[in-house]
Amino acid sequence: MIRVMRAPSRYVQGKDALLDLKRHVESLGNTFYAIGSKSALKSTKAAIEKSFEGSDMSITFELFNGQCSMAEVNRVRDLIRKSNSNVIVGIGGGRALDTAKVAAHYEKLPLVIIPTVAATDAPCTALSVIYTEQGEFDQYLFYPKNPDVVVVDTGIIAKAPVRFFVAGLGDALGTFFEGRACLRTESLDLDGEHITQSGYCLAELCYKTIVADGYKAKLAIEKGVVVPAVEKAIEATTYLSGVGASGAGLAAAHSIYNGFTVLEECEGTMHGEIVAFGTLVQLLLEDSPIEEIKEVMDFCLSVGLPITLEDIGVKQVDPEKLMKVAKAACAPGESIHNMVGDVTPEELYDAFIVADNMGSQYKRQ
Ligand SMILES: [Zn+2]
Repeated sequence: MIRVMRAPSRYVQGKDALLDLKRHVESLGNTFYAIGSKSALKSTKAAIEKSFEGSDMSITFELFNGQCSMAEVNRVRDLIRKSNSNVIVGIGGGRALDTAKVAAHYEKLPLVIIPTVAATDAPCTALSVIYTEQGEFDQYLFYPKNPDVVVVDTGIIAKAPVRFFVAGLGDALGTFFEGRACLRTESLDLDGEHITQSGYCLAELCYKTIVADGYKAKLAIEKGVVVPAVEKAIEATTYLSGVGASGAGLAAAHSIYNGFTVLEECEGTMHGEIVAFGTLVQLLLEDSPIEEIKEVMDFCLSVGLPITLEDIGVKQVDPEKLMKVAKAACAPGESIHNMVGDVTPEELYDAFIVADNMGSQYKRQ
């Protein structure tokens, strides 16, 4: 059996890490082309320019149009070619980073990723989610390599709205349990390769770290400051979760997220928030010990992650709609089929109801 482990070539993290950017990227090229949202460029541009000062390295900044669609990718690729740049830089949140990843892949150029929020584990993974111009899910694109360099300035992340950080904790919460489910069935990881011990080990460390440091980190980020718990939690949500999920695979929690995207009332709920609830549902499907489930619920409550359907935006349970979610989550090709014994929409529906009841009762205690 062939097993494969992949990760970014270099991961850099710390307060003011951007002031040190040049040292980490100078081996990649000297003409950089950056794409990012308005707020992302505002919070990073000065530090990046300062880092490049006095060197032969230049950087062009381009505003991201807000949607990772093929039209936007083509627009950016055109600009990159015209500028004769030899390194691409993605700055911001998931969609801007994903656009930079697609452009770098097709232009065959090295890629630097600078996340300004820690809402998902997208910075370290080798995939993009492509949307239509209307904002609907279009397709996943998988790449043969992860970003070359990922630079996380924790001073910048700490100043982003706390809800982004909490959602990142939710996305990271699924990583260990989904990896464990894949290991039990020897399922393949996101790239269709067999799982390594290293990937699983990082996924496990991810869970331990967010449970130990997530709450302390949230308290700091609420105030826009950095303490050691923030550094550890951000490493968990950005690196351990991304590399862990790439290396250990996904299972029910992420399929449950995909399922809930069919409901309009969940549109305002973030990816990681639904993944957190999906993790509880997955634990019920696996019939995990109650101590483990309680540990997960305690963690969710401490940081403000959802544990009921109402928490993720479902104000009124409509059996027909909930069944639609269950069916979407169990569509062919979904990672929920990596679970032991597989899961049918009917079984998933029942687990939704029990998870919701359990969460509601736990909150009242
Ligand atoms: Zn995710």
